[in-house]
Amino acid sequence: MTECVFCKIVDKQIPATVVHEDAHTVCFMDIGQVNPGHVLVAAKAHAENIYALDDAQAAAVFRSAARIARAIRTAFSPEGLSVYQANGQAAGQTVMHFHLHLVPRHAGDGMNLTWPVKNPPRGKLEEYAALIRQKLA
Ligand code: AMP
Ligand code: ZN
Repeated sequence: MTECVFCKIVDKQIPATVVHEDAHTVCFMDIGQVNPGHVLVAAKAHAENIYALDDAQAAAVFRSAARIARAIRTAFSPEGLSVYQANGQAAGQTVMHFHLHLVPRHAGDGMNLTWPVKNPPRGKLEEYAALIRQKLA
């Protein structure tokens, strides 16, 4: 039996408050609720992170995310909405089954992401882009 908590939610072995599901995704309330209306969009088939998603899963995840985001906006009228998705412990991932967060946002809500920009010269951007282009599959 799987030890993955989100696989258990997909398989209905443990409870979750589901707002939507389709062939590839299940969308449920994050148990921690950073703000009211905080939803997770998870792949149904176990995939540890973004690197493991196939094209159908990747497309389905963002289709569900956009759809649920619109519903959250209508239901909660937040001032903003953050989409957050972590891959690997260094990025803050704690559940190793792909999911993204939809977090309704309000000014002064205490959710902070530091963004330490480096503003490198254009040549560096070109260098980094070339490295990525070479590896595109
Ligand atoms: P991350 O740090 O992006 O891996 O986030 C994992 C999220 O999963 C956290 O925000 C947790 O609150 C949430 N979470 C963990 N277990 C459950 C669960 N059983 N039901 C709903 N949300 C969960
Ligand atoms: Zn899993």
